[in-house]
Amino acid sequence: MKKKTIYLDYNATSPLRPEVLHAMEPYLHDTFGNPSSMHATGQKARKALDDARETVARLLHAARPDEIIFTAGGTESDNMAIKGTALANKAKGKHIITSQIEHHAVLYTCEYLEKEGFEVTYLPVDNYGRVNPEDVRRSIRPDTILVTIMHANNEVGTIEPIAEIGKVIKEENTKRASAGLPKVYFHTDAVQTAGKIEVDVQELGVDMLSISAHKFYGPKGIGALYIKRVTAIQPILHGGHHERNRRAGTENVPAIVGMAYALELALKEHSAENARLAKLRDKFEAGVKEKVPAVIFNGHPVERLPNTLSISFTCIEGESLLLALDLEGIEVSTGSACASGSLEPSHVLKAMGISAEVAQGTLRFSLGHYTTEEDIDRVLEVLPRLVARLREMSPLWKAAR
Ligand code: PLP
Repeated sequence: MKKKTIYLDYNATSPLRPEVLHAMEPYLHDTFGNPSSMHATGQKARKALDDARETVARLLHAARPDEIIFTAGGTESDNMAIKGTALANKAKGKHIITSQIEHHAVLYTCEYLEKEGFEVTYLPVDNYGRVNPEDVRRSIRPDTILVTIMHANNEVGTIEPIAEIGKVIKEENTKRASAGLPKVYFHTDAVQTAGKIEVDVQELGVDMLSISAHKFYGPKGIGALYIKRVTAIQPILHGGHHERNRRAGTENVPAIVGMAYALELALKEHSAENARLAKLRDKFEAGVKEKVPAVIFNGHPVERLPNTLSISFTCIEGESLLLALDLEGIEVSTGSACASGSLEPSHVLKAMGISAEVAQGTLRFSLGHYTTEEDIDRVLEVLPRLVARLREMSPLWKAAR
């Protein structure tokens, strides 16, 4: 009999919820219009677009719906926030601050800007993966124009002190305004938090915030960027007058409707769902501690996403364990995941002070809506056996015994 697949990779992506597909459906055929068209078919699509924008704005606590721009996902939102701010403010300053543990959508965008003459400070993190807000303060220079720090890390689940960093930037901006220095804008990549925990742009004190629908059971290829009113940002896509001239291209109405509805559902359910997920995660963590020797749990013990567990299994290759689990129908990801398939250790674990050797044996388990207690029981039954088998073949393990 074919084993049930146990998907524990929700931080990579999540399945579309049937209710969300149902909400999107009419916009794929009957209400197919282009929201820029003046006729009734176009205006029906425009109404759906406006309603979705209002919903996303309300759920993120934006002051106005026009502070929400729809994009093609987290990567585009991050690119737009960073390059858009850099281009609009380059005459005022060319210094950007970020952290060493950002997603590549942020890191590689910053590296690109370095080649274009910008200077970037990559802040370190502590052993739990947290940025120190005072490090942000100390790194701000007269020519700083942007700070971009993620809300929660996708690999280890650590939640960053964004509201505290927001306060630091606000204080510095007050001093800068009286000294005639340029404003420092603040962006956060909330791709791993939107739909999972409360995301309130006012409370966080950010000027820009990126989200992506496929992380919260919405469709892929759709995201949003919150841009606080009066934030100076230049478009990176040029063409029609869509999105108030900030992002050209006919809006993906079905996907936008789906994203708004998925976010609404996720936030309605998140308190109960998070309690359920945290219980399952804790059971899993306790089970691994009891049944598997020589493991290290990565990330902050408290300030962390309820669904994520990053575990280093010493003396084995994470890739080998991932493949062995896959053969058992259990799907997870490595901390060293890289599009090229290279075995470069994770930049996140490295920044947290974890040795390359330990980082290589790291797996990320991310739980979600369809994870059950039976799933966790099965993983706890299979995982210790696979780890023991791989360690039996490991010269490192033998040498360490
Ligand atoms: N930022 C973070 C923290 C992510 O985890 C991801 C996706 O894994 C992205 C950005 C990119 O989002 P998207 O896949 O929607 O382009």
